[in-house]
Amino acid sequence: MESSELIKSAAKLAARHTVTDGEKFRIAKCDPGDTGPFANGERAGLKASTAELLAGGVRAMSEMQDMLYAQDRWSLLLVFQAMDAAGKDGVIKHVMSGINPQGCEVHSFKAPSAEELDHDFMWRCSRLAPRRGMIGICNRSYYEETLVVRVHPEYLKHQQLPPELVTKDIWDERFQDIRKYERYLARQGTIIRKFFLHVSRDEQKKRFLERIDDPAKNWKFSSTDVAERAHWDEYMDAYEDTIRNTASEHAPWIVVPADNKWYTRLVVAGAIVDALASVDLHYPRLDAAALAKLAESRAKLMAE
Ligand code: ATP
Ligand code: MG
Repeated sequence: MESSELIKSAAKLAARHTVTDGEKFRIAKCDPGDTGPFANGERAGLKASTAELLAGGVRAMSEMQDMLYAQDRWSLLLVFQAMDAAGKDGVIKHVMSGINPQGCEVHSFKAPSAEELDHDFMWRCSRLAPRRGMIGICNRSYYEETLVVRVHPEYLKHQQLPPELVTKDIWDERFQDIRKYERYLARQGTIIRKFFLHVSRDEQKKRFLERIDDPAKNWKFSSTDVAERAHWDEYMDAYEDTIRNTASEHAPWIVVPADNKWYTRLVVAGAIVDALASVDLHYPRLDAAALAKLAESRAKLMAE
């Protein structure tokens, strides 16, 4: 596939699932089993065409990353949020398979440490924000603050906040702070894409059972993950409110159907290609003096 054609189909695929204006967003309208334009495809033909698209997407990403790094102006921040077993790790592994590791950093954010709790909530993420030229991947992020912490407000007690600052407005204030932070990053040249891998409760159960039954997957299983299922609806409400309040043109959410791994990967790859293609990436252009120096070096090498 031609690269301009590929970028166009990537943009189209990403657009189906992208939220830039949260006001109308409703999680109930998003189907985790959606497979977009491939819903009625012939099974064999489908496999070939999606594999080709994914391979093409990864290749396009790799070419654009090379320019991103050389140009050293823009950076790309990719945030991944999801319920357990939605496939964050797998997506990160597959989608980034064509990326030069020197230009990419992955950070996983677990329950905060004592040191992290002694700082403002953004601290642990902002100190790891991607440098110019780099792709920064957040496996969980500051969004945990309006997701898991909202579902378990008792976690706020560990955050060492002055009590008079913890009011009923705290979630709105966090949305405001996150919006301002992302606005700031965007104005600094950070391209931002936030992915919610949207898995269904039934599919999560299936994947947990696989983790229990397959010895090679036992390590991924934690009994507390099963306990969290009791809060499913509260999590969905928290996701909906978070996306409604923090989706924007410069930092959109991509709500990725996650019951079919092949489709999840395709949408994420498409959105990343689209994001990189949205800015003017190019190799550094040399001025006349630098070109003259190159010619001089060439002449020297040839004269050896
Ligand atoms: P993952 O669940 O991301 O695949 P994991 O199972 O290896 O990774 P866990 O030890 O389960 O890692 O860590 C992730 C847990 O940390 C999640 O339950 C998440 O909600 C929790 N967590 C992340 N950030 C915060 C936060 N700011 N406050 C409280 N809990 C958090
Ligand atoms: Mg976990």
